[in-house]
Amino acid sequence: RVVVVGSTNLDLVVTTPQLPRPGETVLGEDFRTVPGGKGANQAVAAARAGADCAFVGAVGSDDFGVRLRDSLVAASVDVRGLRTVPGPSGVALIAVDQAAENFIVVAPGANGALADLTDDDRAAIGAADVLLLQLEVPLPTVVAAAGAARAAGTTVVLNAAPAASLPAELLDLVDLLVVNEHEAAVVSRAAEPLDALLELVPRVVMTLGARGALYADRFGRRLEVPAPRIEAVDTTAAGDAFTGALAVGWAEQGEAAIAHTLRWACAAGAACAERAGASSALPDRATIDALHDA
Ligand code: ADP
Repeated sequence: RVVVVGSTNLDLVVTTPQLPRPGETVLGEDFRTVPGGKGANQAVAAARAGADCAFVGAVGSDDFGVRLRDSLVAASVDVRGLRTVPGPSGVALIAVDQAAENFIVVAPGANGALADLTDDDRAAIGAADVLLLQLEVPLPTVVAAAGAARAAGTTVVLNAAPAASLPAELLDLVDLLVVNEHEAAVVSRAAEPLDALLELVPRVVMTLGARGALYADRFGRRLEVPAPRIEAVDTTAAGDAFTGALAVGWAEQGEAAIAHTLRWACAAGAACAERAGASSALPDRATIDALHDA
């Protein structure tokens, strides 16, 4: 079982021939709303990849909150730990032009109100194999969740996104850190991030985009796997697909199967990149298996 403590946002996406300058109004084209947020995306990714998955987070008391809750339920994610708090849900206002340049403003809304963990949240974390965390909810909540997991022997997987330098208080509770190359540089503040990261946490997975991913730990294990060759259409949420699948592989097979799990997670990321869309492109288990075995 995988428990995610994290964010959920509604992405409000408009395409436009040209991005506006400050003070300017432009006429856009298509508008769509897409459930997002790294926490919810990774929970949906884990559920589609075949895990029994629970999400602890917060939506607002607006219509968007209903939509966000429904989308998690539709993906068979356990939402008993999802609060509805007074005020707006988290949103991301996104404008995209023809060259795929974008403007994004995120208003955290209810995500910023995810504070105290309940006894039920702690019990759910303690009963899970893996706790999966990101950095889009308040840091004290992330630390509290990691502490509950450590106390119960649940593996703590932290995806350090969006990139931030992290306090020792959190790093000391992390069993496995998942970063892309940019996040690796920011977290480690070093030119050789991998070795520097291993001084902070015992195990690191670094994603390398189309090149795949690598794993390294303090116990001398190091491996790198290529990503499946695909025609990339839209890499949005590829990192979330990867991280969700990695958590599932670890929950099911543990540390000993890391070589298999890393390849399988790369297949999940690639399957997501092969399809247009963000959360809608998160692959199911059969799709991941097919690309993994190809
Ligand atoms: P992020 O989106 O967080 O920056 P990456 O770009 O490293 O993360 O992508 C995450 C994973 O998704 C990669 O490790 C890889 O497995 C897969 N992936 C992403 N882009 C491609 C691509 N163009 N071809 C194949 N796999 C990809």
